[in-house]
Amino acid sequence: MTAVTVIGLGIMGGPMAANLVKAGFDVTGFNRSKAKVDQLVEQGGRGAAGIAEAVREADVVITMLPDSPDVEEVVLGADGILAHAPTGSLWIDASTIRPDVSVRLAQAAAAQGLRAVDAPVSGGESGAIEASLSIMVGGGGAEFEAARPVLEAVGSTVVHVGPTGSGQTVKAANQLIVAGTIELVAEAIVFLEAHGVDTEAAVKVLAGGLAGNRILDRKAAGMRARTFQPGFRIDLHHKDMGIVTAAAREAGVAIPLGAAVAQLMAAARAQGHGNLDHSALLLIVEQLSGR
Ligand code: NAD
Repeated sequence: MTAVTVIGLGIMGGPMAANLVKAGFDVTGFNRSKAKVDQLVEQGGRGAAGIAEAVREADVVITMLPDSPDVEEVVLGADGILAHAPTGSLWIDASTIRPDVSVRLAQAAAAQGLRAVDAPVSGGESGAIEASLSIMVGGGGAEFEAARPVLEAVGSTVVHVGPTGSGQTVKAANQLIVAGTIELVAEAIVFLEAHGVDTEAAVKVLAGGLAGNRILDRKAAGMRARTFQPGFRIDLHHKDMGIVTAAAREAGVAIPLGAAVAQLMAAARAQGHGNLDHSALLLIVEQLSGR
């Protein structure tokens, strides 16, 4: 049985690990807060007290951590993956991090005799729970094929998009589209409310036309009700807008709308909304509109 270790059992990593258990993998989990590890054990996985213990006998190690410095620490640290995972094991980074960091860490992994792919995901908490994530994989063809059975247990769209780091570049583009779409849905809802329109009926008809999109399907009800339980925290999406802004600058590409939404996310954080779902951008639209 393939031994898979998951490091980072949060909103996404927790359900991904549970789905790997359901798919028949021998799953070990580690998370900084022990309660998440206990939850995985209740779901049929094993718990570890540290990274070294978690990865020592792993065939595959998945990281699902918040940001580039977290992944760097977990991979390169004295107690980390490269120091303790077996030679020949496969490291899959499903976190959303900077493409340049992804490339550097994959090179460090190769120098230690490990294989690596970047495999960031899209589909949100519901996609993680339903094992229907869309997964964009960067790395060599052989590494992609080695990662595929594990990724297909947590996702329904698994695509090799190019060499190491390109999964993260595609994910940055994904975050640009999602950010702009959420902002426009938020503006539309505040606009409709200001006109006294029944927003439930409006969302229903909008979802059936050219304006239809997953944000309308999944987030509009919560936005209308002002329930912003994450989901995907504004802090993390703001981090992703930093990634896409830097990568766009590096490539000489203008992203004026993306830059504007990044500023609105910065405002949301400054207002103390960083731990709310990214759909809470609506609160900033309301505030700007004096409502
Ligand atoms: P989260 O904050 O819920 O989970 C991260 C987990 O990592 C936490 O449980 C935290 O305790 C743990 N952690 C942090 N540092 C650690 C360390 N050094 N050792 C062990 N555990 C550590 O975040 P999330 O929403 O699950 O997101 C994880 C990654 O996936 C991020 O890069 C995010 O951008 C990306 N992502 C999130 C979503 C979403 O909808 N939530 C969707 C797609 C991608």
